[in-house]
Amino acid sequence: MLVHPNTGVAFESPVPPGSGWPGDPATPLTATATDAAQVRALAGSAGSVPELDARVSVCRACPRLVTWREDVAVTKRRAFADQPYWGRPVPGWGSQRPRIFIVGLAPAAHGANRTGRMFTGDRSGDQLYAALYRAGLVNQPISVDAADGLRTEQVRISAPVKCAPPANVPTPVERDTCWPWLESEWRLVSEHVRVVVALGGFGWQIALRLPGAPEVQAIRGTPKPRFGHGVVATLASGARLLGCYHPSQQNMFTGRLTPAMLDDIFIKAKELAGIR
Ligand code: SF4
Repeated sequence: MLVHPNTGVAFESPVPPGSGWPGDPATPLTATATDAAQVRALAGSAGSVPELDARVSVCRACPRLVTWREDVAVTKRRAFADQPYWGRPVPGWGSQRPRIFIVGLAPAAHGANRTGRMFTGDRSGDQLYAALYRAGLVNQPISVDAADGLRTEQVRISAPVKCAPPANVPTPVERDTCWPWLESEWRLVSEHVRVVVALGGFGWQIALRLPGAPEVQAIRGTPKPRFGHGVVATLASGARLLGCYHPSQQNMFTGRLTPAMLDDIFIKAKELAGIR
């Protein structure tokens, strides 16, 4: 057992459901999916965002990803060798009534797979949350662990694959198996969403698959809008889809994406969402 770097409470790695990890939505009794059919059933029957989050956080439907995330939680990275790792699927984070819905790819092995919160504990998250703070969409610029006090009223951040994959690449089967979790999350929050921000081309393709999205039309009338940084499309529901380069370490290091470019995206997202 190792102690959480913020709370000082000791945990096993991976963290057992309901053992007191900050933000853990599950209990030891939360229903656990162990195959694709069970994911579809449990996702489809979730009646609220907290219920869905709890079920996501204990899912074991993808054997390769379960093994990987739990192995990483035990072996750790040297810099975090003194910390417990979450080592479980990472549910969406943020408001249950978001005006802005941000879609990434999957948790990072030593970021969200360690901290248990989306985009928390790695450099991508550092850039993303700092930009959200500059835009006035979260209450603090720092996101280091699930007990750091980060809050938002307007934003929810999620991903189409909830477990950290080896080399950041899930297989097509794993993507398909995990899809009902995001589909149900969208079912539960979409009535509030005015803007979907897609982080990278994969996030863009995922956003186009969200229920209601097959009738997506680009603002200029292109039937299948193509991803681009700053490109805006319109969902059939009236919500907008806004493309943004992924704030990966490589994109930020090479200057393909800069903090100023991220700021422009979230200024635009707020404008489209009607947030002053
Ligand atoms: S990737 Fe999704 S479906 Fe697969 S084990 Fe993780 S949460 Fe479950």
